[in-house]
Amino acid sequence: MSSPGHTDRTRGKRLPELASHDLADLQAILDAALVAHICVIDGDQPFVLPVAFARNGDTLYIHGSSKSRLFTQLATGASTCLTVTLLDGLVVARSVFESSMNYRSVMVLGTCRVVEGQEKAAALQVISDHLLPGRWDEARHPNEQEDKATLVLALDLNESSVKISAGPPDDVPADVDLPVWAGVVPLTEHFGEPIDAPDLPVGIAVPDYIRQWKR
Ligand SMILES: Cc1cc2nc3c(=O)[nH]c(=O)nc-3n(C[C@H](O)[C@H](O)[C@H](O)COP(=O)(O)OP(=O)(O)OC[C@H]3O[C@@H](n4cnc5c(N)ncnc54)[C@H](O)[C@@H]3O)c2cc1C
Repeated sequence: MSSPGHTDRTRGKRLPELASHDLADLQAILDAALVAHICVIDGDQPFVLPVAFARNGDTLYIHGSSKSRLFTQLATGASTCLTVTLLDGLVVARSVFESSMNYRSVMVLGTCRVVEGQEKAAALQVISDHLLPGRWDEARHPNEQEDKATLVLALDLNESSVKISAGPPDDVPADVDLPVWAGVVPLTEHFGEPIDAPDLPVGIAVPDYIRQWKR
């Protein structure tokens, strides 16, 4: 896996001080996020799809329907761009201009390859373990028909960038004495109380591993 920002096209130019070249930052952001957005160009129309994803070492896996127009387009090896964003807070400056967001974000450039055989089965487990830790051991696994209906794609982390914006507002000195509040409003994500399926037979409790899910 190459360090983030090591190529010309992934080197941060706008506010380069927010760019991180640290592999640990790249991995931590990818491992904390549940959703990525991936671009596919169909004809002359770009589309950006939100997708579930998971990282295994230096590879990201995504999965979708084998009939999905956009997934099959990605499966041809077309160039793509995937982004992941964790929003940490709103930065409320004295001026509208300096108001912004605190975030951790990743951009990955590359091409997807179709994953088959043992790597496909392993990738599905990696995605399940990332999104629903503990579930793979309990849920029914895909049958042959479900397996055929599922396309798994891999995107290697060879060319990526990381940008991290954190901290208080950066007001211009002339604004600091304005009589208006300034600061950061943190934003956090959390799971709510699990809700039973309406058709759940009586007597099946929420498993402990689900109760332990935390954001
Ligand atoms: C939640 C959120 C909200 C944002 N809101 C705004 C906004 O309202 N207006 C605005 O102008 N910008 C916003 N940004 C920053 C925006 O993503 C770009 O970084 C910025 O617009 C500079 O773009 P550029 O093409 O000039 O970057 P450049 O520095 O020219 O980009 C060069 C390379 O740096 C990398 N890079 C750039 N941005 C990012 C990123 N965010 N994450 C990872 N790698 C990156 C890419 O590899 C890119 O190819 C926001 C970012 C996030 C995560």
